[in-house]
Amino acid sequence: MGKLNIKHDENFSEWFTEIIKQAELADIRYNVKGFVVYRPWAVITMEKMYMLYETELQNKGHLPAWFPIVIPESNFKLEAEHVEGFTPEVFWITEHGDNEKFEEKLALRPTSETAMYKMYSLWVHGKKDLPLKIYQRASVYRYETKATRPFLRSREIFWIEGHDCFATEKEARDQVREDMEMTENVMHKQFCIPFIFFQRPEWDKFPGAIHTYAADTMLPDGKVLQLPSTHLLGQNFSKPFNIKFLDDDGQEKFVWQTCYGPAISRIYGGMIAILGDDKGLRLPFDLAPVQGIIVPIFTDKNKDEVLAYCEKVKGILEMEGYKVMIDNSENTPGFKFNEWEMKGVPIRLEIGQNELGADTVTLVARTSREKVNVELSKLVETFKHKGKEVTDTLRAQADKNFEDIIHDAETIEELKDVLDKGGFARVPLCSIDMDGKECADNIKSETHGDIRGVRFDKIETPEGKKCIYCGKPAKHYVYVARQY
Ligand SMILES: [Zn+2]
Repeated sequence: MGKLNIKHDENFSEWFTEIIKQAELADIRYNVKGFVVYRPWAVITMEKMYMLYETELQNKGHLPAWFPIVIPESNFKLEAEHVEGFTPEVFWITEHGDNEKFEEKLALRPTSETAMYKMYSLWVHGKKDLPLKIYQRASVYRYETKATRPFLRSREIFWIEGHDCFATEKEARDQVREDMEMTENVMHKQFCIPFIFFQRPEWDKFPGAIHTYAADTMLPDGKVLQLPSTHLLGQNFSKPFNIKFLDDDGQEKFVWQTCYGPAISRIYGGMIAILGDDKGLRLPFDLAPVQGIIVPIFTDKNKDEVLAYCEKVKGILEMEGYKVMIDNSENTPGFKFNEWEMKGVPIRLEIGQNELGADTVTLVARTSREKVNVELSKLVETFKHKGKEVTDTLRAQADKNFEDIIHDAETIEELKDVLDKGGFARVPLCSIDMDGKECADNIKSETHGDIRGVRFDKIETPEGKKCIYCGKPAKHYVYVARQY
């Protein structure tokens, strides 16, 4: 224990399983299949992630609310595509007490459109009620049939969902862009996860949406992981849920809607997967449960003095609001170094006789692992600086790994080759409308690659290219990857 020693890049799947155990992030032994217990070291970070995401949402004019976890079947069935898409995954509550049946069965929310929009129809009357921008932090429940994995895929997901109503289609489309901007501000800038937003093909949209845009990132094994998605719902829900307002022209109109869903537990899984290394976790400075770990190095003779000095150093940093701990366990310093590196603490502070004698502290960043000896008077400034350096380095390294992961393929053989190596293949496809679905299905069965869609950040036209599968003229460059 204390040490991880699994090659993060070469043996990612084993790395992920081991880090969850050794860093005590989750326990998969709970006796309901697909449900996982999340442990303090992970939850403290996820709480911080919630806070940063909610701050961003509130800065962009969203307000928090809490809606019930149960959704009556009658609400759930109002939007036809939605019900068709989600029914196979729904957990139903049918009785209470001693086999007493409910008059109407209740769904455990798999997502909250049909809970929230029922109420929106009571809240929206005139233009003064718009835009309505509300989010909730909640857990959602989906009966996943694929093998579950803590954080990445389970039957209980901890997330945030934002649900907005607007008077016009333009405002709704602008909201989709704002959702992408929030994703950049939080997920990339603060959580250090790079991604590309794709417009999903027609056959892979959120059930009930006009368009779905989803942020895809890449795990170290070259498989894609879907992170937040934002959906233009148009009036698909406002019509059946009867959410309308009296417009200036005296006409009653249905609102235009969007929804946005960052799944915190999944993003956490992506974050630790992408930022980790052979020694274990690496966490951004603002997200680490412990930002600085003090490792005292003492002999029987100077133990009390060294520990007292450690307390002093801890006090100085805590005064500034940092989370700092002293490891005064019986383990050797070497063991402690490994243990806290494995847990991803951004900065280690070594304190022994030299530091004690000179009124200094030795700082070691988790990223560079260089030792820097600073005077006590410079401690706070250096600690803050090193913290920022850790976060910036993690982001820069993740961004660098995210370059060169796109390769062109124009035949199925080339596509298989690219996918075997890992990453995105850019291929010409006849269509991302429903008439391209047959090609997509065939590509999937022959290569195990999923069509992730067309890039949102740039327009790419395959001039004169033919569909990689059917050979008809290609309308789009689409990106294909194997999915986590
Ligand atoms: Zn085709």
